[in-house]
Amino acid sequence: MKKGEPFYEGKAKILYATDDPDLIIQYFKDDATAFNAQKRGTIHEKGIMNNRISEVLFKYLESRGVPTHFVQRLSDREMLVKRLQIIPVEVIVRNRIAGSLAKRLGLEEGGTLSPPVLEHCYKSDPLGDPMINEFHIRAMGWATDAEIKEIEKLSFRVNELLKDFFDQRNLILVDFKVEFGRHHGKVYLGDEICPDTCRFWEKDTLEKLDKDRFRRDLGKVEDAYQEVCRRVCN
Ligand code: 5GP
Repeated sequence: MKKGEPFYEGKAKILYATDDPDLIIQYFKDDATAFNAQKRGTIHEKGIMNNRISEVLFKYLESRGVPTHFVQRLSDREMLVKRLQIIPVEVIVRNRIAGSLAKRLGLEEGGTLSPPVLEHCYKSDPLGDPMINEFHIRAMGWATDAEIKEIEKLSFRVNELLKDFFDQRNLILVDFKVEFGRHHGKVYLGDEICPDTCRFWEKDTLEKLDKDRFRRDLGKVEDAYQEVCRRVCN
């Protein structure tokens, strides 16, 4: 398998073609952005840690029946994945009140959401990923009814599996964002799962161990990523 040309550069990753039209390479960068790229920085070795963490989590989810785009980790910063036709919808699952939900509803962070809350956003940097619902997704033709149902089912399944996985590592899975795409007609979990895309709080102290340390200038950003990496990968 040969690495080809880059065909997309996002905020945290570069995507490369390969000589197999069904496969691409995700290259994980150290760049970090927040608030729709108004805040920019780098987190030392974030790409290496996110690649490792995502590998473990994708393998874990696959082993429990969730179809993911993961094929193989190739190097410190490279992951081989199935080429997906990305559905332009971000799915957020929330177990606790935090972040934009706390702000939107004027609530304190920390309250438990039972059952968990699922939200959709339209994946658009220029628009700042506006919140949408299933009717928008259907009306815009971004996904079929069957795909919407499948995505919802998979997202809740991912939540149950990851909640359990992190609970065993003394971390609360507060919320996370996932993306899906099609590959030969079937829906797969894509993108990455890491402290950039999830909120993790230490179970006993509620200390934040995720990208909120960067977003909110809390310090010890690298330490938080390293700690999550240590607990996930060991
Ligand atoms: P919130 O809507 O509270 O800002 O985010 C909810 C969860 O989804 C958090 O775990 C956050 O990291 C993740 N999330 C939401 N939107 C994005 C996004 O555009 N990029 C990334 N990396 N994560 C996101």
